[in-house]
Amino acid sequence: CGVFGVIGVADASNFVALGLHALQHRGQEAGGIVSYDPTAGFQSARRFGYVRDNFTSQKIMETLPGELSIGHVRYSTSGHKGPTAIRDVQPFFGEFAMGGAAIAHNGNITNANALRRELIERGSIFQSSSDSECIIHLMARSLQQNIPERMEDALRRVEGAFSVVAMTRTKLIGVRDPLGVRPLVLGKLGDGWALSSETCALDIIGAEFVREIEPGEMVVITPKGVESHFPFRRVASRFCIFEHVYFSRPDSILGGRSVYETREAIGRELAKESPVDADLVCPVPDSGTPAAIGFSLESGIPYAMGIIRNQYMGRTFIEPTEQIRNMGVRLKLNVNRALIKGKRVILVDDSVVRGTTSRKIKEMILDAGAKEVHFRIASPPTAWPCFYGVDTPQREKLLAATMSEEEMREHLQVDSLKFISLDGLYRAVGEAEGRNNKCPQYCDACFSGDYPVTPSDQINQGFEM
Ligand code: SF4
Ligand code: MG
Repeated sequence: CGVFGVIGVADASNFVALGLHALQHRGQEAGGIVSYDPTAGFQSARRFGYVRDNFTSQKIMETLPGELSIGHVRYSTSGHKGPTAIRDVQPFFGEFAMGGAAIAHNGNITNANALRRELIERGSIFQSSSDSECIIHLMARSLQQNIPERMEDALRRVEGAFSVVAMTRTKLIGVRDPLGVRPLVLGKLGDGWALSSETCALDIIGAEFVREIEPGEMVVITPKGVESHFPFRRVASRFCIFEHVYFSRPDSILGGRSVYETREAIGRELAKESPVDADLVCPVPDSGTPAAIGFSLESGIPYAMGIIRNQYMGRTFIEPTEQIRNMGVRLKLNVNRALIKGKRVILVDDSVVRGTTSRKIKEMILDAGAKEVHFRIASPPTAWPCFYGVDTPQREKLLAATMSEEEMREHLQVDSLKFISLDGLYRAVGEAEGRNNKCPQYCDACFSGDYPVTPSDQINQGFEM
């Protein structure tokens, strides 16, 4: 998901709509905006579909007045899959003794089932199936006298990954979980401030990137300034390494590094680790593009757009049902036949999850008359599900959970298939010594099975680490 918030500028919700538009790659199912204005009070609008189709008309934006606003774009990683209920669309709103508050959450709460059961037993009435709603109910039960402190109380009980943007009548609040699994950044916008999942959304509104919110940090922002707290026990951070590989936009800056440059470096590492003689390097667009450029630069094999992407399709993976995902590949990608015929082709993609994309693309490339097909993948084999906010399927559906690299090559029927090593990936994100196995610098659980937060709900349902 993507979260965004603005305080201290007129018509804040317009900036939020623009910010969410720039974060659309993080969630395409639905979006919502909440605003506060002293006369109008809290107002909200929640819709299915793209931001540009819902939050551009004057008619709707006029219903969201004020100088304080937050928003969310949704991609379901918990709660109901398939067609989402509108009640699952964030931000969520709660009315407390000291006034209302709205929250937008990116990440996944790994003890949400346990918390929900406990809260329901104690009388909470849940409106949605979303894990994020727990935060509101925990806040309602807290005995603290102000909303930021209630939020601290609530979040201390929550396990897993959370980057939260919240608002009261007077404050914009941002929090990252102690491991800092999901990103969150602070920007300066004129006399006001902005919080965003990624820096690319600060660019679109002309806000200046100030800094990242630190892992375990809570910032409480008024137009006057930013107050910082550290409400959690300090631990070594474990940022999601897959944000660098795939999830974030290439024009964002993560941990001081350009995502684009990191992806290009991954491609270079891949070319060094797994060279192959061929005529062309082609990306599987768009997610494989920067790594393919890196692979081409390092190997000296020409880069070509052998697969053309229909720009009017979203991210295939993020469509929640299997059926749509299967169709998606052909709706989205087509082979540039003239380029491919008779060629030995290296295809570079960011990841192999179920293998749907790679299998279809290989068929399309061979149909077009390619002589050889070599896959190079910009992440290690995805052998474990993510429980921290990326929608990977159950372990059984992951190709790499049951097959070796050679078995996957055979399954996909390609001439070669190589994944970047975990150390190679760490080198590409700037860790010259590779992964520190005693104290890993990132979360890489979907590749290593090393889960930095015990996924307790999953374990209660029989998941074996
Ligand atoms: Fe990111 Fe993978 Fe960790 Fe999930 S499991 S947070 S996708 S690195
Ligand atoms: Mg892709």
